[in-house]
Amino acid sequence: MKYFAGIDIGSTAIKVALVDENKQLIGYKISASGSMFYKYAKQSLKEMLDQLNIDEKDVVYTVSTGYGRKLFKEADENISEITANAIGARAAASGKCEIKTIINIGGQDSKAISLDDEGNVINFAMNDRCAAGTGKFLDVVAMNLELEVSDLSDYHFKSEGTPLAINSTCAVFAESEIIGLLGNDHSVEDIVAGVHYSIAKRIVKLVKRVGIKENIYFDGGPALNRGLVHAIENELGKQIFIPEFPQITTSFGAAILAVDSYIYENCTE
Ligand code: ADP
Repeated sequence: MKYFAGIDIGSTAIKVALVDENKQLIGYKISASGSMFYKYAKQSLKEMLDQLNIDEKDVVYTVSTGYGRKLFKEADENISEITANAIGARAAASGKCEIKTIINIGGQDSKAISLDDEGNVINFAMNDRCAAGTGKFLDVVAMNLELEVSDLSDYHFKSEGTPLAINSTCAVFAESEIIGLLGNDHSVEDIVAGVHYSIAKRIVKLVKRVGIKENIYFDGGPALNRGLVHAIENELGKQIFIPEFPQITTSFGAAILAVDSYIYENCTE
């Protein structure tokens, strides 16, 4: 059996996905990027293969993507995360809905990608200048509130009344604004909901730059946060599709592309 690997070296997390010849997802692994991207990416791939009991030599083609994609020297090919995200999103939603717009929130950036009817990328917009509207912002908020980032969703849904307005446009100022709100006896629940709505408003502005076309797909680690999903849906006034494994869409797309590249390179006709 031949296997194909996609490695997404993100600023915050490394995602490794493995597919078979039929482009079916066989396994995946998510680990922190740390400071040694190459070392951790190699380690993640090895750990995933060990867990699946698959020999490294059966992985016949590897495609790397993401912020640190060029650091993974063993990759047969590297591609942009926009292309890999689009391929992965279409495949993850296949049979469920046709994706025309992708929202991706990563550790240190956020993107909106517009696709044509064939799934090709026709436009994208990116925010990588400001941490507000990224996973990093959620990490800082969680830390200040002494919560885990995975707890934020529960707090969001326990908030009662109108979510608090977080007005600061910069993560650093937002941090002091949040501390001020805590000092003024606002509940953690209302602050969390306010943070989610402030991110949602930014994301809607970003999506409007490429045009809002349904169906809309949301991925990246923060898509695991159902409270944030709820806020974005309310701000958009539309439902969004969340895949089963939102954080690995881009690595899954890279693995799918690995199958195509392998077939192309080994075509004997
Ligand atoms: P990148 O590709 O840029 O490294 P990811 O798409 O992996 O980024 O997203 C990383 C972010 O995902 C983290 O900064 C964190 O805020 C968020 N995240 C990770 N796990 C969870 C979780 N279980 N619940 C909510 N958010 C999460």
